[in-house]
Amino acid sequence: MVLLTHAELDWLRAAYPKLVPNDHNTEIRGEITFRAAYDVASAVFSIARPHAAEPPGLILSGTYDILIKDVATMEKVRWLFPRLYIQDDAFPCCAERHFYVGKGACLCGPSEEAALLKQGYFFQQYLEELCIPFLYGQRYYDIHAQWPWPQYDHDTLGALESYLARGNLESIQFTLWWSLNAYATWPWMRAILSSKKRPKGHMPCFCEKGAPIRNCHPEAWEGLKKLYADVRASGVELPSVDQGGGA
Ligand SMILES: [Zn+2]
Repeated sequence: MVLLTHAELDWLRAAYPKLVPNDHNTEIRGEITFRAAYDVASAVFSIARPHAAEPPGLILSGTYDILIKDVATMEKVRWLFPRLYIQDDAFPCCAERHFYVGKGACLCGPSEEAALLKQGYFFQQYLEELCIPFLYGQRYYDIHAQWPWPQYDHDTLGALESYLARGNLESIQFTLWWSLNAYATWPWMRAILSSKKRPKGHMPCFCEKGAPIRNCHPEAWEGLKKLYADVRASGVELPSVDQGGGA
């Protein structure tokens, strides 16, 4: 899979000239500089464009050395969105800042990703609606030690919260493959989803506290109930434990 079309490459050269694709168009490296704003009241994120009116909200600018990498061909599952990395060994690529263990950026929940990809993969949208907000979030985190907008929890909990918010019968397969590849909890999750008995709210939570999930992470619990019901209703096949490619 290529990262961008010829027309998108022309756009990239004009808008972010220091980002350069490799010969095979499977990686893009270089420096990205942005100015962008997030308006808390309207929950709208906007890129500040030259010669245009300033967008509402808190304007932050940043420059990062990044790598954007196609991972769809590297793993058994098609991760249709490429992976974003910050190319700086000193950068704190930690879970609180929404990086995976492998230091790739967690740009959105699986159900959001499925909803976006349903409309097609467009490089400009990927860069400006996922990557730049993520980098803006890093700048904001530098100053406030928190995110500018509400966040899902990490890992399995976040995937379930995302399923509660945006999941449906169309995104279910995607959520299952995502969970299989990204999370060590898949054998446990698979056992829950394949059981004839409905999950109970007093089951231990997926987080390290292990308290009853319905009290510990209620939105993840609601997401799990919805996912369980949708797996039953759709008759979708659960990927086996050994099908994972690793995130
Ligand atoms: Zn919990």
